[in-house]
Amino acid sequence: MPDSTAPDTIAPDATAPAPQKRALITGITGQDGGHLAEFLNSKGYEVYGLIRGQRNARKEAFEAEFPYVHLIEADLTDQTSLIQAVLTSQPDEVYNLGAISHVGYSFRNPQLTADITGKGVLNLLEAVRIAGFAEKARFYQASTSEMFGGLDYNRPGAGYNEESLFHPRSPYGVAKLYAHWIARNYRESYGMFVSTGILFNHEGERRGLEFVTRKISNAVAAIHLGLQDHIELGDLYPKRDWGYAGDYVKGMWLMLQQDEPDDFVLATGETHSIEEFLQLAFAEIGIDNWKNYVRQNPEFMRPAEVDILLGDPSKAERVLGWTRDVDFPGLVKLMVQHDIKLLSPGK
Ligand code: GDP
Repeated sequence: MPDSTAPDTIAPDATAPAPQKRALITGITGQDGGHLAEFLNSKGYEVYGLIRGQRNARKEAFEAEFPYVHLIEADLTDQTSLIQAVLTSQPDEVYNLGAISHVGYSFRNPQLTADITGKGVLNLLEAVRIAGFAEKARFYQASTSEMFGGLDYNRPGAGYNEESLFHPRSPYGVAKLYAHWIARNYRESYGMFVSTGILFNHEGERRGLEFVTRKISNAVAAIHLGLQDHIELGDLYPKRDWGYAGDYVKGMWLMLQQDEPDDFVLATGETHSIEEFLQLAFAEIGIDNWKNYVRQNPEFMRPAEVDILLGDPSKAERVLGWTRDVDFPGLVKLMVQHDIKLLSPGK
């Protein structure tokens, strides 16, 4: 007699490790790409990253810092390479961080910005669909506070949230707004799991020197070490909602762990001027009269300026349980101390 209590199928082994998740990241050599690769690796993901060009100058340094990342040569303007990248990586999660990401540069290169920052996301979404991953892969689109534009009529006292009006003030902001809407359109049209993160400025030790925070932390460190005697900047009155990039990549990941795709603002809910950043950065090296070390140069001013950005992260905090470890003074300190170490002789 067969044992009627015996199971007729083999029960799954509850102690077996969950299969390793796979993530594909565009813009992996950028600031957020580095933080996200590190974070996903710590969570046990197999991480794939797109890298551009025949001999990308950043490749060697990147491989030394992130030996666990599988690099795939592809380009956001080249549809075939993107399809191949999806097929190679077989992703559970796709993070589209690749973009021409500097506002000043976008004024000088508006068409390139439209092609990469704007249309690049369409190419990637299509690649996911064509490769047969529309249902399997979850997709994160890196949207930005630059889509809001900071104009008076459009500035809510409590900060911009997911319902605020858009009025981008740069070719970068305009391209990102197209990217934001095409990402939402793929969610609505094809039922894809596509979430967008509307991230306010986020900085840190990996920030490029072309951004004002890193330009300042680097110069302050150089002044401290006697390597330069002043810094040249554009307008100092603009205010930004500056957070720490390491905190923001956790928010990106949380968005893809939800039951439903959605749009989320990530911000600190505080806004500070460049003058305030300068004051804290110079205080870090014991200098109070920071104005003696700063010269204004029109070269660094923009054809249209975003005067103030302030975000309201309450939805992300409530729904995602998103929290931040680094506050504004902590961010300035972290960046200046990092650059002092980096520039010190025999570091
Ligand atoms: P953005 O908010 O994405 O444009 O980030 P940035 O760090 O490039 O610029 C932040 C603010 O700093 C903007 O209002 C710039 O106009 C202002 N700013 C003033 N001087 C400089 C400078 O020398 N370089 C940069 N990048 N921005 C500057």
